[in-house]
This record gives sequence, C-alpha cells and structure tokens, in this order.
Amino acid sequence: MMGSSNPHPHCQIWASDEIPHILKLEDQHQLKYFNTKQSKLLADYRDTECRNTERVIVENDQWVVLIPFWAVWPYETLVLPKYEVSRFGDIDMSALKEFAKINQKLLLAYDRLFQTSFPYSMGFHGSYEKTNDKHWLFHTHYYPPLLRSATIRKYLVGYEMLAEAQRDINPEQAAQTLRLHVQ
Ligand SMILES: [Zn+2]
Repeated sequence: MMGSSNPHPHCQIWASDEIPHILKLEDQHQLKYFNTKQSKLLADYRDTECRNTERVIVENDQWVVLIPFWAVWPYETLVLPKYEVSRFGDIDMSALKEFAKINQKLLLAYDRLFQTSFPYSMGFHGSYEKTNDKHWLFHTHYYPPLLRSATIRKYLVGYEMLAEAQRDINPEQAAQTLRLHVQ
C-alpha cells in the first residue's frame, strides 16, 4: 500500500510487474544476512534494540515500536513483530488486534507531541513470495515530515538530494521525546 502527500487521509494500492527498488534491496539484504547467520536480520536487530531500550518507544506482548538508528525523517519509526511473521496476510487475529493497538498508541503520541492531527506516510513491508520467505520479517515504516512544530517541516534538499541525508534530530533524542507522549 502506498500513500501520497495530499492533505487528507487515504490509502493507495499500487501494482507493478516488477519488484520496486526499495523492496528489492530489503529482500536482498535480509536474504544475504539469513544465508550467513541462519537468523532474520530484522529479528536480530529488534532483539538488540529491545535489550538496549534507548530507541524503543512502546511495546506490547507481540509488537515493538522503535526509532531505527538509521532514521532520516524526524520521529521516523519502525513497527516490528516480536514473533516470526513474513507478511501482513499471515498475521493472526490476536496479533492483528495488538498491532492495531500499538499503532494507535504511536499515532496518539505523535498527535500529542505536535498538538495536531499528525501527518505521515506509512507502509507495510513483507515478503512478496509465499515460499522462500524465511529471511523476511514483516514490518511497518512511518515517515513523518514534521520537525519542531505543526508548521515546521523537514525537506530533503541540497546536500541531502545530491549526497546523503542529514539528521535534524538524532534517533535517541527523538525516542526520548516521543516516549514521553505515549499513554
Ligand atoms: Zn522496510
């Protein structure tokens, strides 16, 4: 599913006859890691973050929300399952309910932090193959554009478009601030 930048909530489903670049890269890196370590890259990453807790925002029995160390967007988050599931369609009903609850907690925290109905782009990533999916861990990315208030946005410009992304806020600071607004 894909969203766009219109100022109203909506979802889109895109279909193409080839695997999009970002998804393909995620697939390749997860597969390479799995073939070397015999474990899932994102599950090992999740476990490391949960042990450290500095970048964890909120968790429940089946899910955890964290700010990844590579976050480019301010308050960018990753929602990861605490168990092995490769794609959205394989999440069982009990985990789905917990998934809804933790997403709601995150979104309300965003609203409280910025005192507005918080804008974001969000998407699900999961294996696109029903077999050969052992290396995949389903996850959700949130890419919020707001920086310091409801009216100050981050833009990717200049050096960021021509060289590499710059961080306006580091992930540890963002996690500390966002965590304070979780109820
Ligand atoms: Zn992803």
